Amino acid sequence: MAKINENYDRLPASYLFSEIAKRTKAYQESHPGVRVMRLGIGNTTEPLTPTVINGLKLGVEKLADVKTYTGYGEEQGNKRLRQAIAEDYKGRGVDIDASEVFVSDGAKCDTANIQSIFGLENIVAVQDPAYPVYVDTNILSGRNVLYMPCPEENNFFPFVPNQKIDLIYLCSPNNPTGAVATKKQLSGFVDFAIRNKAVIIYDAAYSSFIRDENLPRSIYEVDGAKECTIEVNSFSKSAGFTGVRLGWTVVPFDLSVEGVEPRKINAMWNRRQTTFFNGASNIVQEGGLAALTPEGQEECQKIIDYYMGNADIIREGLTTKGLVVYGGVNAPYLWMKIPNNLKSWDFFDKMLEEAHVVGTPGSGFGPGGEGYFRLSAFGHRENVIEAIGSIKENLTI
Ligand SMILES: *Cc1c(COP(=O)(O)O)cnc(C)c1O
Repeated sequence: MAKINENYDRLPASYLFSEIAKRTKAYQESHPGVRVMRLGIGNTTEPLTPTVINGLKLGVEKLADVKTYTGYGEEQGNKRLRQAIAEDYKGRGVDIDASEVFVSDGAKCDTANIQSIFGLENIVAVQDPAYPVYVDTNILSGRNVLYMPCPEENNFFPFVPNQKIDLIYLCSPNNPTGAVATKKQLSGFVDFAIRNKAVIIYDAAYSSFIRDENLPRSIYEVDGAKECTIEVNSFSKSAGFTGVRLGWTVVPFDLSVEGVEPRKINAMWNRRQTTFFNGASNIVQEGGLAALTPEGQEECQKIIDYYMGNADIIREGLTTKGLVVYGGVNAPYLWMKIPNNLKSWDFFDKMLEEAHVVGTPGSGFGPGGEGYFRLSAFGHRENVIEAIGSIKENLTI
């Protein structure tokens, strides 16, 4: 008799985005003449750059010729792409070997799957608020998760834990708060992890939005991080690959935990990927290679600058209105403190009814998000301007 994985019943129904859609639809149906504007999406909106498109076309054309056709590639990724990713780290003074890089079809899958190489008895901690994947995948696998509060007075980053923790998820720049960890803050966690033989899983999906040169774009810029950290990243937000699908994970040879020799964890992730995954699309990997060329990087940076221009408009607009807003300086997300102690969902309704703008209730990212509201800089400029104009004009606070 087949039995289900009962951990699925431990997970509350995925509520946030379906509830947003439900409330938005209900409002639109009862107000047919009103145009609803969106500042809530965590998805890219601008087209791929010419260099990336040429890379993807090259990938397609190679498949059309018997001399260049390739079928299955290496599950770990195209050697040239792994090399190019390693080179990109070198540009920031970080020495990563191409064999420490595992190419995948995205950072969501990697942050979801990485827990499978660690035992169920590990104590897991996540930032509160956080990207829901870290919590949900650990619950589904049968673990419980501790929340590390990210208080305003610590710039929305957690304090170093003072209890036993084995696996620590960190995301910087953070989704949803837009906060970026300093080298000193990361250093505190790296020291903790080395002292306790713990492992940090570091999600750097938004690293290319960091404008401040003093902020680390990779945790490996911190001494000792290669001994204790797995870093995940993606072409989704940096190059507009949200629908194209390409990411990578670095599992350093030096990474080790109690009773396990160096290289073992790298070999385990290799085994996991070669067993459960058959490699990213060869077409898409050509696109990724193109994105990493100097021309590709320059073009992608222009699009990031465009989104960050949206962030500036949102921040200035809300600040002028007297609202308190964090983030949005080195990240595409802005984290608004909701005035008058309203709850996140009550403010969602108020914003929709008064300004006709849809944002994301902070409480959807964990209990620590209650009382906050996430606004996103992804979107077309004219829509952002219109939405902010409406908030300035119509929202009562
Ligand atoms: C968007 C996002 C990712 C990227 O996921 P992909 O699967 O590569 O598209 C990863 N982590 C966070 C926190 C994100 O917001």
